[in-house]
Amino acid sequence: MPRFCDVCGEREATVFDRTLKNNEQVTYAYCEACYTRLLKNGVNPRFEVDRMRFFHSNVCANCGTTTREVGETLLFGCPECYANMRAHVLELVNGLQGSTRHVGKRLVPFDLNARNRNLKYAGNEIPLLSYSADAIKKIFGQNDYIAPTNHRFKSADECTEDELTSPFVMSSRVRLARNVKGLPFPRKMDAHNFEDEISGAYLASKGIFDARVRKISALEKSQLKALIERHIVSLPLANNVELGAVIVDGGNTGFSVMINEEDHFREQCVVDGFNLKEAYRRLDAYDTNLMKCLPLAYDEQLGFLTACPTNVGTGMRASVMLFLPALSRAGAVNEALDVFKKRYGLTIRGVFGEGSDSVGDTYQISNCTTLGLDEKTIIRQVEEAVVNMCRLERIALEKLLLREGQAMLDELTRSYYFLTTANRLDYQEFTEHVSNLKLGAILGVLPTRLTPLAIDKLVLLCSPASIEIANKTRFENPSALRAEIVRAVLEDKRL
Ligand SMILES: [Zn+2]
Ligand SMILES: [Zn+2]
Repeated sequence: MPRFCDVCGEREATVFDRTLKNNEQVTYAYCEACYTRLLKNGVNPRFEVDRMRFFHSNVCANCGTTTREVGETLLFGCPECYANMRAHVLELVNGLQGSTRHVGKRLVPFDLNARNRNLKYAGNEIPLLSYSADAIKKIFGQNDYIAPTNHRFKSADECTEDELTSPFVMSSRVRLARNVKGLPFPRKMDAHNFEDEISGAYLASKGIFDARVRKISALEKSQLKALIERHIVSLPLANNVELGAVIVDGGNTGFSVMINEEDHFREQCVVDGFNLKEAYRRLDAYDTNLMKCLPLAYDEQLGFLTACPTNVGTGMRASVMLFLPALSRAGAVNEALDVFKKRYGLTIRGVFGEGSDSVGDTYQISNCTTLGLDEKTIIRQVEEAVVNMCRLERIALEKLLLREGQAMLDELTRSYYFLTTANRLDYQEFTEHVSNLKLGAILGVLPTRLTPLAIDKLVLLCSPASIEIANKTRFENPSALRAEIVRAVLEDKRL
């Protein structure tokens, strides 16, 4: 069988170049055309062959992950995979992201001096919303109640952008995925570097937020459950008992960091209402500190390297939590989903429950693309989609009021009185009625003066884990305790 050209692989080789490499005899082979072309361009033909072999490697020399494994799981084994199987990576990333060029935030150099500050992380209490007899007055302040107004429901066309979004946007969240240079991704790493990761992430919080560190293994069951309900810990992280940790914000400024979820770090910042820019502004400061405290995996072309190529580049997910009762009732959320997917490349999904019904008519809009767009552009696209989604919701609500206003008013009022008089409320029942309570508060048709955001707080306070934590000193029937909390909050007539 003839030997083909090492460069083009098409024509028969006629030029042979023998050399010793690692004490082994190797032969480079070229066709006449390739050989003369390379020499004419001033390229050493041997280098060209080595470069091509490197680019077409099927296995990462650093961690042993194969391209086949990546194809099946969509997960790399280590940051070096991105260099070691370059051609495959570029093809895969281009298919997923429609780009192979990072244009967002760049790496800030690792600063050994920052790292050398020896700070032992403290295991302070984790603050969780928890009910006690006089807690309500502390948890619910003046801002959570609005004075009764002569409230008239405005149509979508009459609304300013703020009026459109403020009733339906619950919170805004930005998260960044980051990894340590040279360290295998969490599912392939061992315990060796765990403490380094934690202390680096903790050190980065200095001057930014009051960080409280917990290893997953050190969390009580009810605490872990509460952190999952608050979207501070994900299920995959909760399952990483061996090498998982979380940093919680003691000062209530919305920060948290998941350590060894899919990536080494998932930093996030959540703010109330519609304000992705503010969430990013805060997180960006922490992120810059993190880069100084740990050498992070970064590629000049592809940006921040992540375990899954769907996050590579900015590593950013900007998401907004929305309350969409009218669209949800009309069964129109999925239609809107398709529009947004096509127009903006965004996803919208129910909160808790992939593809299934969402809890309390709550949905989340977020970006899919993380590469080829900078952080500002990603945020702007999500913002634009949120405003449009809120407009659709308002129009759906107008229709609903026009068509079945009386029946709806009746339903909302029943829910209100059900919540204010029930002696037992299981969680399912509670979420159904509290969604009506919130809609009633938005429309201004119920006796409650709670704002929609305050009602979200009530929901958190009544979650299964919150009730479990509150019940540690109470030993009551959970449904009875939940009913007591709801009554107390709704009966608080501060205005
Ligand atoms: Zn050739
Ligand atoms: Zn690798």
